[in-house]
Amino acid sequence: MSESRVQLAVDTSGPATVVTVGGEIDESAVFVRDHGLRGRVTVDLHGVTRLNSCGVRHWLDFIGSLSGVEDLVLRRCAVPFVTQLNTVVGMRGGARVESIMAPFACQDCGAESVREVVLTGETIEDPETAVVGGKCAECGGVVEFDDLPERYFAFLLRSGA
Ligand SMILES: [Zn+2]
Repeated sequence: MSESRVQLAVDTSGPATVVTVGGEIDESAVFVRDHGLRGRVTVDLHGVTRLNSCGVRHWLDFIGSLSGVEDLVLRRCAVPFVTQLNTVVGMRGGARVESIMAPFACQDCGAESVREVVLTGETIEDPETAVVGGKCAECGGVVEFDDLPERYFAFLLRSGA
């Protein structure tokens, strides 16, 4: 058995238990099941760098094992995770998606960045309004969302997903 390339940390010191997941979620991924996670659980996914189909299966097992958690939240879902949210049914399990990381690029110098987009509800009427550009830290130019909003936020628009 190869060593798991997924990084897991569990912090029970706050009002909600925070599970931080990072690294590569692939065939080597091992999610420890015996955390006894209950009550409020927030899973922070900003450090996820890669997910493949085997990793998705491990993830689905993990998120399914949390079905007894009362208030399950996914926070700062990394770009590779959002891609799977948009293609794999059941990817979020019973969780509410609190925020996702979204790709931005400067229209002037091309500098790429990733920013957190906080979601205010389970659905959004118009994905275009969810991604507001800004000023480039490198050159002061115009930074814009670097994907198709209707595609990147498709998981929110799909009812019952
Ligand atoms: Zn720039």
